[in-house]
Amino acid sequence: MNMAGFYDESISNGLGWRAVLFVSGCPHHCPGCHNKIAQDYNYGTKFNKEEIVNRIMDNSILKGVTISGGEPLCKENIPEVLDFIKEIKEKRPEFNIWCYTGYTLEQLEERKDKITDECLNEIDVLVDGRFVESRKDPTLKFRGSSNQRIIDIHKSLMQKQVVQLAV
Ligand code: SF4
Repeated sequence: MNMAGFYDESISNGLGWRAVLFVSGCPHHCPGCHNKIAQDYNYGTKFNKEEIVNRIMDNSILKGVTISGGEPLCKENIPEVLDFIKEIKEKRPEFNIWCYTGYTLEQLEERKDKITDECLNEIDVLVDGRFVESRKDPTLKFRGSSNQRIIDIHKSLMQKQVVQLAV
């Protein structure tokens, strides 16, 4: 997997101070994409998990990690994304993980594959759905268009219905 970028700290990609990993490669090709260059799977540099995890562990200001892109949950990227999330959770169980995806939660659940289910169990907040230009709204927090949802994954899986996070 290639990495399109990494922020050591940010407060605009989820609640609280967070490290942000942007993975390369996305199959969705949304018109008006905010990060078109990252649609290319070969863009950026090879993801070095050890280096990135060390940078995160060395930063005491952080409360969590956000994974964005590109598309973290496509079949090409999801194995390394899951491996990365697991290592973060093992080292910092109190960290919360936000993940941006162009898929909807329902589409991910319909896959019925082990790796996607495991990933959903590790993620705390899923910002789901493609960017839709006609529904673009710059006043929205942490999302680009109003079709996208900020989902509390654990509550949603438990209650078997989508529970959105109030932000
Ligand atoms: S899902 Fe995100 S990265 Fe992929 S094309 Fe859409 S806006 Fe761009």
